[in-house]
Amino acid sequence: MSRIVHVNGTFLPEEEATISIFDRGFLMSDGVYEVTSVLGGKLIDFPGHCARLARSLRELDMVNPHSDAEWLSLHRELVTRNAVEDGLVYLQVTRGAPPDRDFVFPPEDTPPTVVLFTQSRPGLADAPYAQTGWRVITIPDLRWGRCDIKTVQLLYPSMGKMMAKKAGADDAWMVRDGMVTEGTSNNAYIVKDGRIITRELSHDILHGITRSAVLKCAREVQMSVEERAFSLEEALAADEAFITSASAFVVPVVAIDGAPVGSGQPGGVATRLRALYLEESRAHAM
Ligand code: PMP
Repeated sequence: MSRIVHVNGTFLPEEEATISIFDRGFLMSDGVYEVTSVLGGKLIDFPGHCARLARSLRELDMVNPHSDAEWLSLHRELVTRNAVEDGLVYLQVTRGAPPDRDFVFPPEDTPPTVVLFTQSRPGLADAPYAQTGWRVITIPDLRWGRCDIKTVQLLYPSMGKMMAKKAGADDAWMVRDGMVTEGTSNNAYIVKDGRIITRELSHDILHGITRSAVLKCAREVQMSVEERAFSLEEALAADEAFITSASAFVVPVVAIDGAPVGSGQPGGVATRLRALYLEESRAHAM
């Protein structure tokens, strides 16, 4: 049975879904996206993803085509139609498809392109890598200066992921001026002497929805959190390291550039935070 996707107000089988060749998302990466996890058929951290979508659109002078309630019902309908138990909903909004290619933005009344689809991932929260941890390499952060906007310009992060794979690792941490910014598609953390350290919010990183929920969990159980940039040297000398993202939740990082982090095994803080986060987010899933 083929997947049912959503394009501009219509639910239809994926083979029948089409987008114009003049779509600004296709020609210029002029679009934003969100990824929301589904566990037990329910959406995880949905209000956060909706709020960040609104912010990304605002930062790019794009009109939000739907209210939060409409976005919620679109997500729910797709999850139901595709009987997704565990997986994710991908959502993309682009500046639409003007009649021709032009660097100038199209008139404001050009309808945006809205696409949503689901990806089924049975057992998403029980992925084996949560037990073994990820090995990361480091690469220079060559992205543009507004990494806080969740745009579909994902070529460099995608190249970073391939560099990691070629090196036999799972992901790449990006480094700017000697300081770690974030992973290719996740936020980066180290733990030293019981303190959780992660880069502060700025234009340099995506404001992760999982980051904010995990830091809240950490503070609720009196773990100490420092939001500041950390260097690669600090990361190499850390007791443990981990990443967060909507689709991977919390994953321990056990090696950086081939050197073990701490004991080289998943750390206690990351393991505890993963359990706390999953419990908390499932309790508030909608
Ligand atoms: N940083 C980057 C660069 C990302 O692509 C992502 C995931 N899209 C994240 C961080 C994590 O954000 P979230 O927790 O909202 O998935």
